[in-house]
Amino acid sequence: MLGLGIETSCDETSIGIVEDGKKEISLKVYSQTELHSAYGGVVPEIASRAHLEKINDLLDISIKESGVDLSDIEYVAVTATPGLLGSLIVGAQMARCLSVALKIPLVAVDHLEAHLTVVRLEEKNPSFPYLGVLLSGGNSAIFQVEDFGKMKLLGDTQDDALGEAFDKVATLLGLDYPGGPEIEKLAMKYSLRNNEPLIFPELLKDLPSEKILFSYSGLKTAVLYYLKKNPDYRKELEKICSHFQERAFSLVEKNIKRAVSVTKIREVVVAGGVVANSTLKERLKKISTKLNFHLTVPERKILCTDNGAMVACLGYFLLKNGKTSAIDFKVSATRMEDFYEN
Ligand code: AMP
Ligand code: MG
Repeated sequence: MLGLGIETSCDETSIGIVEDGKKEISLKVYSQTELHSAYGGVVPEIASRAHLEKINDLLDISIKESGVDLSDIEYVAVTATPGLLGSLIVGAQMARCLSVALKIPLVAVDHLEAHLTVVRLEEKNPSFPYLGVLLSGGNSAIFQVEDFGKMKLLGDTQDDALGEAFDKVATLLGLDYPGGPEIEKLAMKYSLRNNEPLIFPELLKDLPSEKILFSYSGLKTAVLYYLKKNPDYRKELEKICSHFQERAFSLVEKNIKRAVSVTKIREVVVAGGVVANSTLKERLKKISTKLNFHLTVPERKILCTDNGAMVACLGYFLLKNGKTSAIDFKVSATRMEDFYEN
């Protein structure tokens, strides 16, 4: 069964064609990074306009290059929530048009769940229930995923998301946008000693032991104060980046440890743009061995960041579970629980 997935929730316009929810036939991503880099973050108005300008061409290219005929597409899936409203509307409208014109089912999907489902395109099949850890530009959260289309939030961020913290700290350090890869590159050049005292304080040190919570704005502020106090900081950029990562990733580890302990679930999927970070990947592998849980992360970078293949992939499994969406389904900036007709 061939499905087409559309992703326009933030600053990537992307279309993916997927077969049977497991085989990627085509994946095209147009990243708007250059358009937003001068602002150090995504500007919603610029994002929605750019989606509108690119999406038709992207569909044409996807169809031409994949060798698939548009009439062979059997369902269309689209990100409906969460995301930038003006951007979501562009993808939603294209999905509605394709559904009507091709007379195929329409499946609106949760962007966060799509990130967690994408590992199924890499021949991995985490069993339900699993813990879904989402680390991206807009989210740092842990979900208990019961089935396709069914997940419960266990813990969220109370301020900045992890990717957002990377981007904001990179701006403070005068690095390019997006900041994640830039900070990673510098941090990798620094050899952190065992038990080396860190410049920045431990995050959420006094959090009650069963609580799952993320917060990164304090770390960003700690970096800011350090830079103000140390005008010569450029000499130690590598150390600052390494210490920042260390503190940021320790909180991820702490929350995963808590989620495993509270739920007793030993199947963990970690996804989202920040998982492209190889230091994080290594740390996750180590802690999965130590705590004895089964870890799944997307391997290919293109599948870590926003993409249409993950949307088509989740759409397939929802459709198999009988979930389709009405033509007038709603899009929503904040996460919506259910938008299926059945
Ligand atoms: P997403 O929101 O899932 O599209 O992911 C984008 C976010 O991931 C941005 O905030 C990036 O800075 C962050 N990111 C991408 N690559 C890396 C990396 N290698 N290390 C840390 N963060 C990253
Ligand atoms: Mg995303």
